Amino acid sequence: MRVAVVTGANRGIGLEIARGLAARGLAVVVASRALAAAEQAVAELAAPDRVLEPCRLDVTSAAERAALADGLRTRHGGLDVLVHNAGVSFHGFDARVARDTLATNFFGALELTRLLLPLVRPGGRIVMVSSGLAERSGWAPELAARFSDPALDLPTLTGLLERFVEDVRLRRHGEAGWPTSAYGVSKAGMNALAAVLARELASDDRHILVNAACPGWVRTRMGGPGAPRSAEEGARTPLWLALLPEGGPSGGFFRDEAPADW
Ligand code: NAP
Repeated sequence: MRVAVVTGANRGIGLEIARGLAARGLAVVVASRALAAAEQAVAELAAPDRVLEPCRLDVTSAAERAALADGLRTRHGGLDVLVHNAGVSFHGFDARVARDTLATNFFGALELTRLLLPLVRPGGRIVMVSSGLAERSGWAPELAARFSDPALDLPTLTGLLERFVEDVRLRRHGEAGWPTSAYGVSKAGMNALAAVLARELASDDRHILVNAACPGWVRTRMGGPGAPRSAEEGARTPLWLALLPEGGPSGGFFRDEAPADW
């Protein structure tokens, strides 16, 4: 049985991604930063033929990431699908917002990928739940271009995002060319991360595909009640990327199951 991990799977889009993967026959590790919320989600998704496992995971916690990796190794011998869905969007823009947004949305996904990548089995799929707000129109053009540079590597990308947090702290983000959206920078980072990882994995004989998805504007706690899409609709493109057939795209950003600009 293939095994999937979905972060932030207790509600919203993550819960629907977990539901979709379980319905297609994957064993799903339902990860949530509150164990009780993970258990509640598992109870909601339960069906006789489904394998669902609750798991406590705050993606910013190194200890909880390590415990998840140990569990996957010992109980399942690895994993097949990793969906980075956990995300935050805060009001306002200051040093704390920049640090905390990047810690969850970008560095949480990055560190979890680093740890779990050796456990991903052949044919594995990694999905970043990103956003249309990753678009870089409010950025200095040279800085924007660095995020989609085909020569970008992981140390350079992480250095850029660390610099963003530092530039906001020192209130020099404007002159450095950054936009005033920590959320947008974190999601542009996720898109760039998908591209960088895809390039790194191109020579890996496990044929792992890594992509980022925009779910659209979705009625969740984050998206609010006025959003046009249901959580189930928002889960569609992430699910499509999680279940891509062999030879599918890698390193791209997709909306409505089609390549999108960012
Ligand atoms: P949501 O209902 O607010 O759900 C966010 C999920 O992320 C919750 O499960 C939350 O857990 C979890 N989370 C937050 N910080 C975490 C952390 N440090 N560790 C682990 N889990 C954490 O929002 P949503 O709309 O479903 O968002 C899911 C993803 O879609 C996010 O990445 C978001 O950026 C993206 N997205 C949403 C929209 C939209 O319109 N809704 C649009 C574009 C992209 P708790 O329950 O513990 O808080």
